[in-house]
Amino acid sequence: MEFLQNFKSQLRVVSPGRINIIGEHTDYNMGYVLPTAIEKNITFDFQENGSESICNIYSKTFDTGFSFDLTKVAKSEVEWHNYILGVVNEILLRERNLKGFDCVLESNLPTGSGLSSSAALECGLAFGLNELFQLNLTKLEMVQLSQTAEHTYAGTQCGIMDQYASVMSEEGHVILLDCLSLDSSYIPIDLNPYKIILLNTKVSHNLATSEYNVRKMECEQGVAIIQQSYPEVKSLRDVTQEMLQYCKGELSETVFKRCSFIVDENERVIQMTEYLKKNDLTAVGELLYEAHDGISRLYEVSCPESDFLVDFSKEYSGVLGARQTGGGFGGCTLNIVHEDQLEEFTEAAKEAYKKKFDILLEIFEVKPSGGTRIVEAS
Ligand code: ADP
Ligand code: MG
Repeated sequence: MEFLQNFKSQLRVVSPGRINIIGEHTDYNMGYVLPTAIEKNITFDFQENGSESICNIYSKTFDTGFSFDLTKVAKSEVEWHNYILGVVNEILLRERNLKGFDCVLESNLPTGSGLSSSAALECGLAFGLNELFQLNLTKLEMVQLSQTAEHTYAGTQCGIMDQYASVMSEEGHVILLDCLSLDSSYIPIDLNPYKIILLNTKVSHNLATSEYNVRKMECEQGVAIIQQSYPEVKSLRDVTQEMLQYCKGELSETVFKRCSFIVDENERVIQMTEYLKKNDLTAVGELLYEAHDGISRLYEVSCPESDFLVDFSKEYSGVLGARQTGGGFGGCTLNIVHEDQLEEFTEAAKEAYKKKFDILLEIFEVKPSGGTRIVEAS
């Protein structure tokens, strides 16, 4: 693209991906989640380009870019453009004054792997534009407008977790977030001598967006039926297993399973927080396995590749627990692995996975890291 010839970065922002320790699909059910940002991120360089309304974006990762006019922002046919355009649209709707800008971005975060590269993309752009044009948006406003952009332009009816984790995380901590009140507390996490290891299945089944929205609808159907017996219920966070049992006859088998998972998963987030505070790592691991079982059997958002890796990890005494992290249908499994068994486990997993699926597993360690921030341009 032509603008690249005269590009000089005025501002550099990094925006991270995230893992979620536990609390899957609970965010849009107004429950609890326990995520943290990781050291894999998208780097954005920005410059004002002197034009009133022409903007140029280039993704080094995809080796392609596009231009658009601030006076004519609309949805695109190209998937990744919509994350950019959606955020710009949300900023304009808030009557903030943008002018022409150029942005070059580059990522070391696997895309479509359940580590929320989409939120990193939205939030990094919102954060950068806020700084470049002094928009006076709070961090929470950036989180919320990025979430809305994902609804309106990208078409995923996501909860708030991914964007919140990308922007608000702090190094060495996980965030216990109440997705209803947005109260949060930062919990120090130190698993030494265990490490958080991600195994990237490298499959991203294209069911992810459509089935995600279906799950959300099924939960809403559940709530509507439960409300007939319990009018005080506003979302699944208000429901207990006893209440669910009472309504079981009214719910379809599928909707019952979905609701049952969410009710348990919410409880698990609170339990996990206690286990982490007590440093009871065996209990932490068991809870991860329990959660994966629900993800697979009740919420049905796993896939053969993730199930295989989670099962495989059970053969290793040095692995305390594992589960698929993120929205589902592939992406990464999160494993708590003793440093002494790290090499043995990862080598064996790689070999077994190659043999079973003929895919080369990608393996990396992650550490709880800070959220979206400005860094020195080199
Ligand atoms: P996840 O958020 O788990 O990575 P999603 O499907 O929600 O998976 O988002 C991935 C999408 O985000 C990609 O398909 C692409 O459209 C966009 N995206 C992520 N990273 C980049 C990047 N570096 N350059 C351009 N688009 C990106
Ligand atoms: Mg995403």
